[in-house]
Amino acid sequence: MIVVMKAGVGADDVQRVIERVAELGLTPHLSKGEFRTIVGAIGQRSAQVQQQLEQLPGVDEVMAISQPYKLASREFHEADTILDINGIRVGGPHVNIIAGPCAIESREVLFTVGKAVKEAGASILRGGAFKPRSSPYSFQGRGREGLELLKEAGDELGMPTITEVVDPRDVPVVYEFADMFQIGARNMQNFNLLLEVGKTDKPVFIKRGLAAPITELLMSAEYVLSQGNHRVIVCERGIRTFADEVRFTLDVSAVPVIQERSHLPVFIDPSHAAGKRDLVPALALAGIAAGAQGAIIEVHSCPDRALCDGPQAVLPHNFHKLMEQIKQIAEIVGHRVTLWGREDAKPRKALAGGWAT
Ligand code: PEP
Ligand code: MN
Repeated sequence: MIVVMKAGVGADDVQRVIERVAELGLTPHLSKGEFRTIVGAIGQRSAQVQQQLEQLPGVDEVMAISQPYKLASREFHEADTILDINGIRVGGPHVNIIAGPCAIESREVLFTVGKAVKEAGASILRGGAFKPRSSPYSFQGRGREGLELLKEAGDELGMPTITEVVDPRDVPVVYEFADMFQIGARNMQNFNLLLEVGKTDKPVFIKRGLAAPITELLMSAEYVLSQGNHRVIVCERGIRTFADEVRFTLDVSAVPVIQERSHLPVFIDPSHAAGKRDLVPALALAGIAAGAQGAIIEVHSCPDRALCDGPQAVLPHNFHKLMEQIKQIAEIVGHRVTLWGREDAKPRKALAGGWAT
């Protein structure tokens, strides 16, 4: 249920509602919008509880949330969530490009690619240290050593970093070295993993499962939100269809569908969908044109030698060109690309309070 407070209501009335919700055995969550304050009352709904809440001072109305995901829904939080990640705004009208190699292979590749993507305007550096591979004989990532390199690169370049966590036991070590958790498509429904990252205060980037409907993706986001971590981004990365010319089929329509139902930032991953570097620009631009608030793109300085996902890695100079096109398309749809290595290089003041930070 959501308890919608009257316009201009005082903080003490809101506090009373929060306390009453907890007394009634439900979990309260506060959403402060520009026009209205909402207290989410998450748990078993009953007409009696609803009536009791309706009678509290300052309460305008109490409504059921129609979707199975509650905190992730637009009904709970009307405005787009805008996250503040080390001074970078993510969500709303801001478009951010995450780029870097699929895996952290060596210091040389990570730093070369990191510098190139920063110069091109990417705002967040990616690199996998724990790789979920289809074959147990493939390169599995460099683990902690890789994370240390990623942190070093992020610090030197002044870029926030993202890396995948595949095991709940690795959440503390990833927390120590990276700025954002990536939950991979294969782990979208690893509920213990979602609960673990939900207990932290670092942003969680959840990729859509290979065969997951949108509702299930948003339920995965709900797992994280339910633990008190409100810093969630969801990502469409291609789903399995009969179209076998590409690795996966990028479901571009997922972008507006999720945005209609949820306030969370939506990214796309053209690299894993395409599986071939020549197709990456077209898919990236399609996603940004559809309104995505960012993209995660694999870039490699020497893709022929890459230990993972070489065929889909774009070369630095092509990534540079793509960034220019992304900038133009974003503008057409009323968005603006954060060019961290260029004009947006100065850290901004953190956003104050609210659901997002
Ligand atoms: C990746 O980002 O390198 C990755 C493995 O992605 P996904 O989980 O979408 O397959
Ligand atoms: Mn990859």
